[in-house]
Amino acid sequence: MSAPTRGSLLDLVQIVGRDNALSAREDLVPFAADAKVEGAAPALVLFPREEQQVCDVLRYCSQRGLPVVPRGAATGTIGGAIPEFPGAVVLSLERMNRIVEINARDGYAEVEPGVVCDALKAEARAHGLFYPPDPASADTSTVGGNASTNAGGLRAVKYGVTRDYVLGLHAVLSSGELIRTGVRTRKGVMGYDLTRLLVGSEGTLAVITRLILRLAPAPESVLTLSASFAGMEQAGEAVVALMQGRVLPAALELMDRASLEVVQAELAPGCEALLLIDCDGETQQVQREIEQIERLMQERGALQVEVARDQAQSERLWKARRSISPAIYKIKSRKFAEDVTVPISRIPELLRRVADAAAQNRVLNVNYGHAGDGNIHVNVLFDPDDQDERARAEQTVQQVFRITLELGGTLSGEHGVGLAKREALRLEIDPTQIELQRRIKAAFDPAGILNPGKGLPPR
Ligand SMILES: Cc1cc2nc3c(=O)[nH]c(=O)nc-3n(C[C@H](O)[C@H](O)[C@H](O)COP(=O)(O)OP(=O)(O)OC[C@H]3O[C@@H](n4cnc5c(N)ncnc54)[C@H](O)[C@@H]3O)c2cc1C
Repeated sequence: MSAPTRGSLLDLVQIVGRDNALSAREDLVPFAADAKVEGAAPALVLFPREEQQVCDVLRYCSQRGLPVVPRGAATGTIGGAIPEFPGAVVLSLERMNRIVEINARDGYAEVEPGVVCDALKAEARAHGLFYPPDPASADTSTVGGNASTNAGGLRAVKYGVTRDYVLGLHAVLSSGELIRTGVRTRKGVMGYDLTRLLVGSEGTLAVITRLILRLAPAPESVLTLSASFAGMEQAGEAVVALMQGRVLPAALELMDRASLEVVQAELAPGCEALLLIDCDGETQQVQREIEQIERLMQERGALQVEVARDQAQSERLWKARRSISPAIYKIKSRKFAEDVTVPISRIPELLRRVADAAAQNRVLNVNYGHAGDGNIHVNVLFDPDDQDERARAEQTVQQVFRITLELGGTLSGEHGVGLAKREALRLEIDPTQIELQRRIKAAFDPAGILNPGKGLPPR
């Protein structure tokens, strides 16, 4: 790979037009970081508005060996959307943000990648439909970024993750060639499933320029219930019991006392953990399901069980849940934010062993997350100026990884590999598979220019 010359930067700017490019040093600095990881500032940022411009940029860059980093809203937390080294071209898809079509008869939407997730949800709702994927960053993250990371979300326990809604894609290979994958139908089994391969590929295989997304019927009503517990393990046991029962909640989130305190939640006396649960569907059935869950929570020793009075109260509870991640910085200015996932029955053991590891290493630890999926956000906090504390936090993370794998889990349920978890990939995936993944990468991107350094460990 090479660094762009002044001449190549000018050529690239010409492809998208001066108004759609940034090259002044001070404008480039914000593109060196995502929501958590810092990398290097790019040499140029381009904001294509048309698919053809993406094709032209990639063809130009692959002919000259220039590294290209695709970017949505940069809410990712693993360094996927930032250059690892100076000299890259960042290709921001945020201005390709048209909702091309909502097809209510066939139940799909066709959209450009820069559409913000919440904007699609609102448009679907206006047509009486529902786009279920809802990462906690849905108000800012793009559907292109969601597909590239296979984002999960609060409602994944019932509705699944982004992958389950991507019927087809337009994607540009690093050579500049456009491919159209997938279908507009409910079923489709022709050929290898490149759609599913591209979803979750973190911008390393192709640049997504259009998405065909399945829409679901909008549920008639939604009810929210909160249940507080005297301990995290006890709340974890209640999750296991609920998920073994006959009611499938739409969302099932678990929060520990520290995460509740940072969002200033009102807590029942003695509360150390809270479950936040949504049921949705036909009105009477939802009412019956919530009553069943209420009884179950009481049987499982909940200190207090409350059903939200109205939509406003329910929204307040969910807003608090969504704001935990940034609010944690009130406690310490840095955190390792892991998104490990275990089989649901192992959640109580995970919580107990994570607490032990944090105590043993004398670090603060905050846990919350999508308990209905076994996906717990384990945050290990540290002060960046305290080298000793940082080392103890790192050690805790390594222990959390070991525990997760021992429990039959995975090291990332949603955020992916990026730069941050390249080495951790070796702990979970065997060398034969890693080699196969390298060959897949080479087949899509022989010049190796697309999001270099991401998603795979160095040789
Ligand atoms: C407060 C907060 C809450 C979050 N909650 C969740 C959550 O509940 N669930 C969850 O899964 N994640 C969550 N995340 C992580 C993040 O929001 C998701 O990964 C999201 O999908 C990233 O979307 P983005 O548009 O910001 O993409 P970016 O961060 O810009 O990019 C992410 C990756 O996708 C690639 N990419 C982006 N667009 C394209 C494209 N068009 N073509 C090819 N590659 C592309 C980038 O190169 C990068 O590798 C959260 C983050 C924050 C800060």
